[in-house]
Amino acid sequence: MTATVAAATVAAPALLADLEISRAWLVDPASGREGPGEIVVEDGILVAVTWLEGPDAEGIDASGIIVAPGFIDLHAHFREPGNEDAETVASGLAAAAHGGFTTVCVMPNTTPALDEPSVLARIRDAAAASGSPVTLLAHGAVSAGRAGEQLAALGELADAGVVGFSDDGAPVRSASLFRNAVAYAGMLGLPIVDHPEDATLTEGSEANEGLIATVLGLRGWPAAAEAGAVARDLAILADVLRDVPGARLHLTHLSTAGSLELVRAAKAKGLPVTCDVTPHHLALTDEWVAGARRWSWEALDDDGAARDPWRDGAITAAPFDPSLRVNPPLRSAADAAACLAALADGTADAIATDHAPHAEVDKAVEFGLAANGISGIETALGVVLAAVDAGQLTLATAIAALTTGPARVLGDRGPAHRGLAEGEFANIVVFDRSATWRVESGALASKGKNSPLLGRDLPGRVLLTVAGGRLAYEAPSA
Ligand SMILES: [Zn+2]
Repeated sequence: MTATVAAATVAAPALLADLEISRAWLVDPASGREGPGEIVVEDGILVAVTWLEGPDAEGIDASGIIVAPGFIDLHAHFREPGNEDAETVASGLAAAAHGGFTTVCVMPNTTPALDEPSVLARIRDAAAASGSPVTLLAHGAVSAGRAGEQLAALGELADAGVVGFSDDGAPVRSASLFRNAVAYAGMLGLPIVDHPEDATLTEGSEANEGLIATVLGLRGWPAAAEAGAVARDLAILADVLRDVPGARLHLTHLSTAGSLELVRAAKAKGLPVTCDVTPHHLALTDEWVAGARRWSWEALDDDGAARDPWRDGAITAAPFDPSLRVNPPLRSAADAAACLAALADGTADAIATDHAPHAEVDKAVEFGLAANGISGIETALGVVLAAVDAGQLTLATAIAALTTGPARVLGDRGPAHRGLAEGEFANIVVFDRSATWRVESGALASKGKNSPLLGRDLPGRVLLTVAGGRLAYEAPSA
């Protein structure tokens, strides 16, 4: 890959952005196009998108400055109300902008849970008070208090503007309640966003069931807990569809080859199911818990078999880093490869971060007692670009999974912008693929410093994020 000589001129922000980016590589999944180009934003409006050809395009390639539509995150936790030590709406939106995201869907597991419109109003007030131009959308709870006993006020939540319903970390155990939720949400035209986990199989589970958990003496977390829940959800969806043609299911943070295979088969049959995978499940594996620090694709040999991190000398860090404790757990290298393959063939519609910031006190404990979650909205792009750099994904697929893919999942209630379209308020991210940045606690806008990538250099430094025509993030000049 040749280094670009593109001199991107990024001119002055304002409340409404005015900027001109010349000789960059544009990626526009909405039109299916990528290549050398230039954009001009005036008073926040994307007034010109010019694709360069011939001699004008010479010397511009995909390794330098990239301009893409702003990213959309289907799954993030901002912890307000209830746990503002871990994150606030304001710090979460700042982290999103630093990560290149212009739209974020927050999950309802706040305290109190987002199970009625007044909680949504509080979150929206906090977003407005933050002054951030990043669009905040929200999923409402499926059940009252996320307790799994009775449905939340789905109709009122829909009227108030939620984009879907989820009990996320407390997945609905009762199949009959889940069935009612899929039907009712379907009548409202909204998806159920399920975190598929059969909790009867994961009680006390600590790390992915397999060699690593066994060697480390951690309680195994079986893949069947996810695939079993996915199978149940799909069977219920198929049933409900007979009466409620608008029923839809979105499965979030799928992490195993088996559950992705079920979704692949369901999609082939035409079931209205979508799913996302996270950056950490496609690039990290359970061997990180043992102290390995190589990417998932480096942990497979040429035949696709898992390498032994101890025999390879791949263990370079101390074991049991609590920042690696996450639900679902980091899986095997073969599962991570399945996440990548699912993105490549369209089985996975989106990359969602499951950004889960925690206060230090909730992570500075023994591995099995640490709170689940990775603070990941700022490292998502870098992790995904590492996969692109390694030839595991194309840049176009990666950007689509961060933009048009999640927009499709959100449907009518998603952001109105459609890619790099002239005449609309600009929603764009500009990043330098050739520049790396070091993930350090001080470099993260999130209050959650619980990242297993601390100390690591990631590719793709975000230079600018413009949301709704306004400057959301600008990198400090080097
Ligand atoms: Zn979850």
